[in-house]
Amino acid sequence: MTQTIGLIFLGPPGSGKGTQAQLLSELFGLLHISTGDILRKAIAQKTPLGEKAQSYVERGDLVPDQLLLDLISHTLKSPPAKQGWILDGFPRTVPQAIFLDELLQQFKDSSLRVIDLEVPDEIIVERLLSRKREDDSEDIIRHRLTVYYQKTAPVLDYYRAKGSLHSVDGNRQPQDVTASLQEIIKA
Ligand code: AMP
Repeated sequence: MTQTIGLIFLGPPGSGKGTQAQLLSELFGLLHISTGDILRKAIAQKTPLGEKAQSYVERGDLVPDQLLLDLISHTLKSPPAKQGWILDGFPRTVPQAIFLDELLQQFKDSSLRVIDLEVPDEIIVERLLSRKREDDSEDIIRHRLTVYYQKTAPVLDYYRAKGSLHSVDGNRQPQDVTASLQEIIKA
């Protein structure tokens, strides 16, 4: 029986998660779930989720866990996720990771791979400054990095302890990063 592929992309903002997740979702027919994109769209459309999330996203803080849990649960159970999925930007806290673990116990035939894209801070700041998104001013970028090390680095430790973490050097040409990721998915 073919297993559903589940990929979790970790790594700091600007590590290339979004670009790689988009490419791999097309290559392997996986649903790309970017919580950042979902929140930005909700904010632009002024939905109730967007109104609750807006001030956090603008400051570069994480939105409260509770705002995303139902959304993730609903999306992973939806028909487009049947073949497999890539989570890009979730989980970002240990409670989110624990929630996801419990949720995934309901998916018996899924194989999970957690990928950490490693990129040095100064390269990240350079990359993000050239991207010009509203939450990409230098102060906010540095704040988002601080939040990443405080809240999301423990998520790396969480998956490392379970033996499911793959670290990939993200400071290379995008096609070389994609090739490494493809090997991990096919292994
Ligand atoms: P991203 O595009 O993944 O860098 O996310 C942009 C912003 O959305 C973050 O700075 C947070 O404010 C918010 N966000 C995205 N994903 C999460 C998450 N899993 N938990 C909390 N906040 C999130």
